[in-house]
Amino acid sequence: MKSVSVRAIVVLVAALAAAGAAAAKNKVTGIQLKDYNDYTAVVVSLDEPSKFSVKDLKGSDLAIVVEDCKTGGKSYKTGPKGVVTEAYAKDKDGDAWVVLKLTDRASRYSGKSTKSPARVVLKILKKPSKEPAGETGETKRTTKTGEGSGWEGVTLKDRGELNMPGVAAGCAVDLDTNFAIESDEMTPDKTPNVIDTIFIDPGHGGKYTGAAGPSNIIEKDVNLGISLRLARMLRDDLGVRVALSRVDDRMVLMKDRTRVANEIKADLFIDLHNNGVLNSKVRGTETFFLSDAKADWSRAMDYAENEEFIIENPDLVEGKTGLNLILAALAQNEFLQESSELAHYVQENLVHDMGTKDRGVKQAPFYVLVYANMPSVLLECEFLTNPAGEKLLVEPDSQEIIARSIYNAIKAYKEDFEEKMGTR
Ligand SMILES: [Zn+2]
Repeated sequence: MKSVSVRAIVVLVAALAAAGAAAAKNKVTGIQLKDYNDYTAVVVSLDEPSKFSVKDLKGSDLAIVVEDCKTGGKSYKTGPKGVVTEAYAKDKDGDAWVVLKLTDRASRYSGKSTKSPARVVLKILKKPSKEPAGETGETKRTTKTGEGSGWEGVTLKDRGELNMPGVAAGCAVDLDTNFAIESDEMTPDKTPNVIDTIFIDPGHGGKYTGAAGPSNIIEKDVNLGISLRLARMLRDDLGVRVALSRVDDRMVLMKDRTRVANEIKADLFIDLHNNGVLNSKVRGTETFFLSDAKADWSRAMDYAENEEFIIENPDLVEGKTGLNLILAALAQNEFLQESSELAHYVQENLVHDMGTKDRGVKQAPFYVLVYANMPSVLLECEFLTNPAGEKLLVEPDSQEIIARSIYNAIKAYKEDFEEKMGTR
């Protein structure tokens, strides 16, 4: 008797599940447009996470197709905002379509779905305003399906049309993907003791150029070129989530760099730089992690990589308040051992793969690292102020080698760490 009723319940549950699948119980609960300098974001809120794809409609219009989902009879019509003149939801073939009517300033896009909160976010980049409209005839678009937990880049425009202001000639980057800095668009990492989210900080940007080489190649561009390559490798080859503090030539406040890394609960913070000194003969590679020595902090002002932080936060770094803040931050820093290990992996790989002079792993008082709630390293790949160093750093092939070298170091560190934690 008992077994019969259990069986009946099981059958009933199965029937309900089947009915649920057919009836698409997932629902769109809202559409929001957010406009930023370089892109407009479309945020589709859902009851549950879902797979999605992006379809080309007539003209340059798009539709976000959320699988097995309903609108519940509401269109959530909104706009205009940014490059979106109108956005609304409709039901079609068991899926929910969010139709986007776009202006001719709409360019490449990238989309992803997040689990908590359940959302699909599509970022639509803007063309620079000086680019004449109407050349969209050559536009080639490809679409990909976004996976449930994915971080999916979708290329809308040919790579050649990519506008990278401020990137020096020869300092080419393969930017066939986009990465967001907005932490609210990225679900925090939820798997403990697994390195699955990595934050890359390409040093400097915008009015802060960093070091400059004898032929005037500037550090911020080289840092970005290597960082974007590294980001692509980590995402495509290691399968981890990657976020960057910038994907173009812009100024990012020093405090925002670690703030975002902390908010998305990144597992590693990679601060990528290249070196500069007055003596152009100096060459070599060095990797830093945060110093916990009081004596080092008394010389914090001497480090070029601290300049931006000092300009942005004079009140924090001057006088007693500043020192107290730093000491307090250091007392809380529980990541020095892991940072040191990661630094050694990176340093050994770079010296080996680049064939550069080994200037060693060092501890230094870098303000940017103080606020990182995760193991963090600051890399100085090579001296840009040395003519041969500059020549090497500007080469796309060299940038690829450097990025691959750092990639391999991160991969080895991740494997070791997860082995140790028993999560591998
Ligand atoms: Zn730098």
